[in-house]
Amino acid sequence: MGVVDDLGRLTGVISCTDLISNIDPKQAIETQKISSLFSTTKIPTTEHDAKTIDVIKQMQLEGHDSLLVEKKEKPVGILTTKDFVRLISEHSDFDKPISAYMSKPLININEDDSVKEALGFVQQNQFKRVIVLDTFGKAKGMLSKQTLITTVYNQWLASIREHQEDLSKLNKTLQDRLVKYEMLATTDYLTQVYNRSKFEDIVAMEISRSSRYKTGTFSLIFFDIDHFKEINDTHGHAKGDEVLKELADFVDMKIRKTDVLARWGGEEFMILLPHTDLEHALKAAEKVRSSLGNSKLCGLKITASFGVATHIKNEKFEHMLERLDEALYKAKNAGRNKIAVAMH
Ligand code: GH3
Ligand code: MG
Ligand code: MG
Repeated sequence: MGVVDDLGRLTGVISCTDLISNIDPKQAIETQKISSLFSTTKIPTTEHDAKTIDVIKQMQLEGHDSLLVEKKEKPVGILTTKDFVRLISEHSDFDKPISAYMSKPLININEDDSVKEALGFVQQNQFKRVIVLDTFGKAKGMLSKQTLITTVYNQWLASIREHQEDLSKLNKTLQDRLVKYEMLATTDYLTQVYNRSKFEDIVAMEISRSSRYKTGTFSLIFFDIDHFKEINDTHGHAKGDEVLKELADFVDMKIRKTDVLARWGGEEFMILLPHTDLEHALKAAEKVRSSLGNSKLCGLKITASFGVATHIKNEKFEHMLERLDEALYKAKNAGRNKIAVAMH
């Protein structure tokens, strides 16, 4: 998607990947440091030479399910409730220092590691918790696998929620633009009826529909304003433009809702009449021709000449167009303000 400034000048290009990488949580955990996950929760610690029984009492009193064992302020091991169960089953001597029974060596991660690394680490080693060290090797905090996962997923959710609004806004803008550009691409800027390109698409659809289903044939009316050059020459080009606009509105009112009016180019227009045979197409053309003759557009008497063609089975649009051209030429030659039928 091109990004433009207020003046419509291209200032950059943003890709889908750019957008997604901004909200993709996977991307976030690769760059996010684990130090950002916790606001220094104090880890319960004990000294390596503390008596095992005292350590167990401390755990019970303070309600911890694990204690970090330190020596000279550096973590050297950990005692968890799992270790405690082991101590009992092994009939351990609770008067011995905790360093004899703690789980060691202490495997830890650094606070500068990424969240993704931390997650991989606990998953790979099947740890329930991991000690996070600061750059000096001191215990900074303890992260349980559950906290790690919950925090990460909560962040994902928050991030998705946060970006949801941005994305919906962006979606809305893109949809509005799409509608606008589709309008520009299919509508004639002056008369606001379909342009030639869109009309060709509609006819192509009608041709394929009529060949596939037995819905009957369709017809086209091709018309061209008589002596339009004179109108421009006499009243000016701007007045000519006004006439074209009024004519489009006028004809649009005279045809059925299901009929399609388009500006073919200059002062030429086309009408597609679905499910309409020659007899009814001629009636429709006559309705437009005569009502035009009885009205004034922008205060001027306007007439037009008409060619009418009904689609022949399997006929290509180009061929139908040639027939319409010939018919219109005939109508002009017959003195204008006439309708001519396109021959097979
Ligand atoms: P004819 O009865 O044979 O159709 O005569 P005509 O004068 O209508 O035909 P011609 O092809 O000689 O001239 C068509 C004129 O239509 C010339 C051109 O300036 C004018 N025209 C085409 N497009 C526009 C437009 O968008 N605005 C205006 N004002 N005039 C247009
Ligand atoms: Mg013309
Ligand atoms: Mg003309």
